[in-house]
Amino acid sequence: MKIGVIGGGQLGRMMALAGTPLGMHFSFLDPAADACAQALGEHILGDYDDQEQLRRLADQVDLVTFEFESVPAETVAFLSQFVPVYPSAESLRIARDRWFEKSMFKDLGIPTPAFADIQSQADLDAAVASIGLPAVMKTRTLGYDGKGQKVLRKAEDVVGAFAELGSVPCILEGFVPFTGEVSLVAVRARDGETRFYPLVHNRHDSGVLALSIASTAHPLQALAEDYVGRVLKQLDYVGVLAFEFFEVDGGLKANEIAPRVHNSGHWTIEGAECSQFENHLRAVAGLPLGSTAKVGESAMLNFLGSVPEVSKVVAIEDCHLHHYGKAFKAGRKVGHATLRSKDMASLKARIAEVEALIQG
Ligand code: AMP
Repeated sequence: MKIGVIGGGQLGRMMALAGTPLGMHFSFLDPAADACAQALGEHILGDYDDQEQLRRLADQVDLVTFEFESVPAETVAFLSQFVPVYPSAESLRIARDRWFEKSMFKDLGIPTPAFADIQSQADLDAAVASIGLPAVMKTRTLGYDGKGQKVLRKAEDVVGAFAELGSVPCILEGFVPFTGEVSLVAVRARDGETRFYPLVHNRHDSGVLALSIASTAHPLQALAEDYVGRVLKQLDYVGVLAFEFFEVDGGLKANEIAPRVHNSGHWTIEGAECSQFENHLRAVAGLPLGSTAKVGESAMLNFLGSVPEVSKVVAIEDCHLHHYGKAFKAGRKVGHATLRSKDMASLKARIAEVEALIQG
């Protein structure tokens, strides 16, 4: 089977690493000449709205999927004329826009911070008056890893904030005094069968994911599955979807969804029976889903900016290195390590070893 992927970064690369053993072949559309997935398939060089290159991609594959959600709606509509596209245009339309996303949570009865649509500084002033401070202002689209957002703590922070974020449509959210951040990665097949990975505890540094630890029998697992299940059903979703939550007052508040494989699911490559990448491909290709069960304790640490010396990373017991083959640049996700262990105490000791290398 031939799979087309919109985007040729590390997520596309890891998809191909999972799909190649299933006999799949990959083509990636990406405007970057050095897209790191090209080592694993054909690279079609083109912008995401380049109809000539989109047509070329559609002509050589059986279906198209995505490694990121910020794709123009017209791109999805154009591709859909020639080839099946998963997840659907509607799923991407909702997930790429924080206003549509949060409105869906509200409609489905999923708790989320108070939020308001902001189209002008006057809208922002009115929203601050009703939601209060502190609050978080975020661009409706194209924000990721803490980019395109600003925390408003005092009245002075509000002045000119709309222009500061580029005078583009935004939302204002109430600030959540969370005790933790967790995410649930789920997969839904074409026939509606749905499976969930264990809840993952995430630590973000400066808005960017640093560490994920897969949990065992988390008390909020069933609640999270209920919320995520509602969204998957609503969207008639096909593929992997990640849902990020704040843990607050012993419950969950929805932050955001990503309609794709997700950084907080990278641990599943070695830490679960069937990885998020393989399960995404199984789902979009109409194959039976694989088990989402965890095998032992597992954690993932991101390498931002550079990858520590390879010999030192792999010297750590049951540490699996993923080097994305990308040019090193401050703050850029260039690799990660998955750690495995039989028990949580030794897992934590191994996490400390990797963190020492990162700081090293
Ligand atoms: P996001 O891009 O929406 O995932 O936000 C990046 C990070 O900013 C989150 O992982 C949180 O650590 C923090 N954050 C986002 N929204 C809020 C909020 N409403 N209240 C408190 N912290 C937030």
